[in-house]
Amino acid sequence: TPEGRISLRFEGGSSHPRTAFAQTATGFLILKALHEQILRFEAKGMVKRMEYWEFLRPIFDGQGRFAGIIAIHRHTMEIQAFLGKSVVMATGGLGRIYGTSTNSLLSTGIAASRMVQHGAYFCNGEFIQFHPTAVPLKGAKMLLLSESIRGEGGRVWTWRDGKKWYFLEEWFPEYGNLAPRDMTSRAIFKVIHQMSIHLEGQEAVYLDITHLPRKKIEISLGDILQKYHHLTGQDPYQNPMKVRPAMHYSMGGLWVDEKQATSIPGVFAAGEVEFQYHGANRLGGNSLMACLFGGKEAGLSLVEWVEGQEIKNNLASMEIHPILEEEKKILEELKNREGRENPYLILKELQENMMNKVGLVREKEGLIKAVEKIQELEERLYHLRICDPSDFCNETLLFARGLKDMIRLAHIIAKGALMREESRGGHFRSDFPHRRDGKFLKTTVAKWTEEGPAFWYEEVDTRWIEPAPRKHQEPLAS
Ligand SMILES: Cc1cc2nc3c(=O)[nH]c(=O)nc-3n(C[C@H](O)[C@H](O)[C@H](O)COP(=O)(O)OP(=O)(O)OC[C@H]3O[C@@H](n4cnc5c(N)ncnc54)[C@H](O)[C@@H]3O)c2cc1C
Repeated sequence: TPEGRISLRFEGGSSHPRTAFAQTATGFLILKALHEQILRFEAKGMVKRMEYWEFLRPIFDGQGRFAGIIAIHRHTMEIQAFLGKSVVMATGGLGRIYGTSTNSLLSTGIAASRMVQHGAYFCNGEFIQFHPTAVPLKGAKMLLLSESIRGEGGRVWTWRDGKKWYFLEEWFPEYGNLAPRDMTSRAIFKVIHQMSIHLEGQEAVYLDITHLPRKKIEISLGDILQKYHHLTGQDPYQNPMKVRPAMHYSMGGLWVDEKQATSIPGVFAAGEVEFQYHGANRLGGNSLMACLFGGKEAGLSLVEWVEGQEIKNNLASMEIHPILEEEKKILEELKNREGRENPYLILKELQENMMNKVGLVREKEGLIKAVEKIQELEERLYHLRICDPSDFCNETLLFARGLKDMIRLAHIIAKGALMREESRGGHFRSDFPHRRDGKFLKTTVAKWTEEGPAFWYEEVDTRWIEPAPRKHQEPLAS
């Protein structure tokens, strides 16, 4: 604030303002501050940046401890080993597995999947957060209209019997337009899909700020509203914005302990790629909290781990050469496949499958079909054709190399959703619409085996917070 205090605002599910912000540029400013720190440490020779390298797989020493990674340079296509005693996975979420997502196209889950296929455990994959207010953009990711718009007074409505119907305010009197994200998304789902109320034939509801004083809103939300105006051609100060839910965040991720250590000795994880802070749901603002806190913890744990190790990795004793050759062979073989399958169309089918059957609302038959479809898609990968033979910047080849990893992570998500016969946070089963703490107050843990994913459950630590029933009426329960 101008007085030097921290500005706080409401986000969904909060009963008082608790989220620090800097107008609508909070993420940008965090990145800027982090980037400045990297430059500072780089100038001192303490940090070395390796840009455009894509992680392909971990390597291990003779005792199964992490000993480095194999990575490929996305421009030169050079494959190289980077030896080290430890690594922090900070590779983000998996939105691209779901087509209709607010995530960056780089949020593929590929890196996490590769770690899982080399022994890391993956937890709670079925808990996927849908953000209620996103705007479809042609041929690209969805534009997120942040919860802060409702935090500043934006209202959600649709037409009913010729009148504006503020259904969130009617269904969630305690929270109004700022009910928790999962509830709000399902309320919009109910209006659009069960009550079949559309806007000019579009599956959407209105997010409206036209009643708010423009000068005030321009200061707090100007950036995002300008972006909306620019991308859609609609002036949000004059016309309500058309929005609908989109996949936004993965609460699931790599299994870690309180030191951010994964199940592979020497491998740590922080940020959206790990599972531990949000349970089945996530409050707005808490991802960045988890990134900052988890990142710091992971760094400290890594130092502790490295100092306690006496392994000395060197190329000769590690026999890296065969692993590098194997990785090169995988790419060559992929490039020379002479099938008829287009990798981009396979991803499209995967995304539709995940959206329609493992999306906001799930049920047994759909989930069984989703798992079958995923298995079919993996088999079809044997018949890929990569039309780009180039040895430089071959995006298609890299994309195809990662497709299997996305499909396998999707398998873990869908199977976990099938097994969890209850509804909790970001996982809603229309055939089991209630929470079943007796059976499922548990963390789902998966590991990858030759037969596919294998699952078990871990107890949730409820020592500090007793689970309580939710107070709000579930929109899809009636
Ligand atoms: C539109 C939008 C708005 C959001 N707003 C908020 C908010 O207001 N508050 C909040 O708390 N959260 C918010 N979130 C969520 C939050 O931004 C993310 O969860 C968080 O940024 C994830 O950070 P991360 O560092 O874990 O991963 P990312 O920031 O996604 O970084 C992952 C990095 O890993 C790289 N990578 C991936 N795979 C590989 C590989 N194989 N090899 C090498 N590198 C790889 C990627 O290129 C990327 O640079 C928002 C998310 C979105 C999409």
